[in-house]
Amino acid sequence: MSKKLEITFWGGVGAVTGANFLVKGEFSAFIVDCGLLQGVREADEENTADFQYNLGEIDYVFITHAHMDHIGKVPKLFADGFTGTVFSTPETKEIARVMLTDALKIMEQNKRAKNEPTLYEQDHLDEALSHWRTIPYHTQTLVNDEFSVYLKDAGHILGSSMFEFTYGGKKIVFTGDSGNSPTPLLKDTEKIKDADYVVMDSVYGDRNHESKEERDAKFERILREGIARGGAIVIPAFSLERTQVILYELNNLVEEKKIPSVPVFLDSPLALKVTDIYKRTVKDFNQAVQKEIKGGDDIFSFPKLRIVRDGRESKSLNEEPNPKIIIAGSGMSSGGRVIFHEMNYLPDPKSTILLMGYQAVGTLGRAIQEAPKELIIQGVRVPVRARIEMISGYSSHKDCDHLVDMIADTADTVKKVFVVMGEPKASLFLVQRLRDYLDVDALYPERGKVYTLEC
Ligand SMILES: [Zn+2]
Repeated sequence: MSKKLEITFWGGVGAVTGANFLVKGEFSAFIVDCGLLQGVREADEENTADFQYNLGEIDYVFITHAHMDHIGKVPKLFADGFTGTVFSTPETKEIARVMLTDALKIMEQNKRAKNEPTLYEQDHLDEALSHWRTIPYHTQTLVNDEFSVYLKDAGHILGSSMFEFTYGGKKIVFTGDSGNSPTPLLKDTEKIKDADYVVMDSVYGDRNHESKEERDAKFERILREGIARGGAIVIPAFSLERTQVILYELNNLVEEKKIPSVPVFLDSPLALKVTDIYKRTVKDFNQAVQKEIKGGDDIFSFPKLRIVRDGRESKSLNEEPNPKIIIAGSGMSSGGRVIFHEMNYLPDPKSTILLMGYQAVGTLGRAIQEAPKELIIQGVRVPVRARIEMISGYSSHKDCDHLVDMIADTADTVKKVFVVMGEPKASLFLVQRLRDYLDVDALYPERGKVYTLEC
């Protein structure tokens, strides 16, 4: 007799961020990812609200990767009484420790400055980490009598995984965020085979990225032109993955003498900590990068790279002569040191703001992307005269064609594909593509509705 499995989508539907999916078997239940909603007006309210399910009924939490929109609320689970176990790859746990500690520090600053409550306390983070077990890639792990799980490399960021759950003889796959393979550093996303049900990401479900060649050529051109104009090149970068990719690419461009060697300032303490984890985890890099490292190349370091340690030093960067490159967080300019640099260099026609990633609706990054004549930043009127450049090819997310290809590998067995973690337009476009091109039963689930799967 077939068994029933229930899936409810409590986050990551109609939005890129806030991934949170509840899975209930006959005797046990777990959630996949427990992330923050980011960049939208209702985010604060949503993030601080009670969980929509009874935490006493949840046995496990499975974390696909350490981006905040997948891990941000894990300590809140423990603050709200959860006592179960968290599972992820060892790399994800290590990065999550750094990311959640940094997030708490920022929340504590906001509490002191604006009396905003923190989402969790240090004790809850400690509790989460002490209940956090790790599973390496490619090991079939029996979770309990009902479920087993197998982790594949998603190729999205260091440690990112896809979960393949086996339940009642059926295979249910959660892609997490699937990577934009081939990437400069990581291994390719592993193929999904013989899946019965798939829950997939769709942030770029309605668009294709530039090709690798276009992307590399564009990066080189923007840097060369920006340096020739003699201004600053400000790159808002996510601390996790994007910064490491940018450092790696800059290192190559300088070594190959494709761009003049100018000072590069890494102005993000969080990125520095994450880069240290990357340096220790060479086995997760692709073959070409592993070979470079074995050949003695320090892939994240070059002679004119300067690490900016404290806030005072960061503020004094505008006294450093141009041309120069400043890499600073946050990636969507929604906080962090980059805002100060943007306020400084947006009015300068010689300077460049180079956006190298997805900019969510409602963020300063998105406003800059629109290249208006003027912006109000922290109450200050800032004229926009700098060149605004955008490269989408460094995205760590698969684009539309590659998302379709990922499902094509399992189209002969898959019974249903749930398309989530995208803006509605992107998710709906991908749903239609999957139906038209692969003839699979794809759908855009409704938040809070229970979907029953025959297993
Ligand atoms: Zn991600």
